[in-house]
Amino acid sequence: MFDNLSDKLDKAFHVLKGHGKITDVNVADTLKEVRRALLDADVNFKIAKDFTTRVRDKAIGQNVLTTLQPGQLMVKLVKDELTELMGGDAAGINLSGNPTVILMSGLQGSGKTTFSGKLANYLKTKKNKKPLLVACDIYRPAAINQLQVVGGQIGVEVYTEEGNRNPVEIAQNAVKHAKANGFNVVIVDTAGRLAVDEEMMTEIANVHKAIEPQETLFVVDSMTGQDAVNTAKAFNDRLNFDGVILTKLDGDTRGGAAITIKSVVNKPIKFIGTGEKMEAIDVFYPVRMAERILGMGDVVSLVERAQEQYDEEEARRLQKKIAKNEFGFDDFLSQIQQVKKMGNMKDLVGMIPGAGKALKDVEIEDDAFKHIEAIIHSMTPGERSKPAVLDAKRKMRVAKGSGTSIQQVNQLLKQFDQMSKMMKMMQGGGGKNLMRMMGG
Ligand code: GDP
Repeated sequence: MFDNLSDKLDKAFHVLKGHGKITDVNVADTLKEVRRALLDADVNFKIAKDFTTRVRDKAIGQNVLTTLQPGQLMVKLVKDELTELMGGDAAGINLSGNPTVILMSGLQGSGKTTFSGKLANYLKTKKNKKPLLVACDIYRPAAINQLQVVGGQIGVEVYTEEGNRNPVEIAQNAVKHAKANGFNVVIVDTAGRLAVDEEMMTEIANVHKAIEPQETLFVVDSMTGQDAVNTAKAFNDRLNFDGVILTKLDGDTRGGAAITIKSVVNKPIKFIGTGEKMEAIDVFYPVRMAERILGMGDVVSLVERAQEQYDEEEARRLQKKIAKNEFGFDDFLSQIQQVKKMGNMKDLVGMIPGAGKALKDVEIEDDAFKHIEAIIHSMTPGERSKPAVLDAKRKMRVAKGSGTSIQQVNQLLKQFDQMSKMMKMMQGGGGKNLMRMMGG
């Protein structure tokens, strides 16, 4: 996420760190570099200029030149300013309605339908809600279909009215249907166009007026940079929406939209989309985002994700297996599935402080476990539970079946073996055995 911006900001601070003595000249140089980094990230000129002016004023106020670690202080000032610019505190979602009605707006292709599904899934699994999805795109049958597919994936009902050409009516009927059937959240996905157009705006404004949503959310593709900001402005002028959803932050986006949208429309970013899967949704926390941009990682989110995926029952089951020396490749596979649910590898690595920068040039595959999974899938159930039976002939078969090499198979077996030993050690005599092994 925002690799380029992170990189350039890091270089900007280098100007300060590299000097034994700090002068107002190199503070000014640093800020110039910061401004350039923001402009390159597609932050608009005025916002970038105001940004550095505010940081400079604070730096003077705090006497950055006489502190012991001016570099660090500057990083902190920039972090605070970035946080402020992106909205300060995290903004929650208003779920007070009965049912709560959420209206989705945005251009076609912004990720509206995908996000509607992610939000429904999030509210269902994390907030214990019973959501209803509503397909209000009367122009594209494919869009209705897409929402139905999404609903099917997450087990959420989708309300449609085939043949009805009146989106206001569909939305109103959907709310009635929700009330009558015990749904407590109604998420209305609307028709988008490729560009802002009057007809679309009138239509969504009418739906908005008719169903009086608690939350009107504007979905925007972060890859579109300044265009995203302009589109946000057009929608906000018309709908006075409550919050922004930034999608596709997992892509190669420069970050300008994330940084500037709040200050242009004065509405908070509420969620971000970080992938095509239904789980790829995150609450937007300005301070965590600022820390990530500055290469400080985001341990809080990383731990939260791990906790979300932590399955106590599964953990207990595994512990028993380890104790009985029965931990096999099928268990290993299920562990991999758990880690994968946390997000793609690149994203996770970016959350570890310093790691994003250190591994910046290392190619991290989105699916780093691809080969491992292929190898395990090519084993027979017997081989998975007792890998010791894998002789040269069997290994060859597994390598062929998984499209890997015999070396890769051997490597995995070796790693698995070491891991099993380690787990037994932790399990058995606990720390004592481990200490002995380490020569303690
Ligand atoms: P809509 O026309 O606004 O409803 O947009 P869609 O939900 O159909 O999304 C358009 C495309 O963007 C689809 O191919 C989605 O899979 C993809 N997409 C949506 N959200 C994300 C995201 O957060 N990350 C990535 N990488 N792709 C996304």
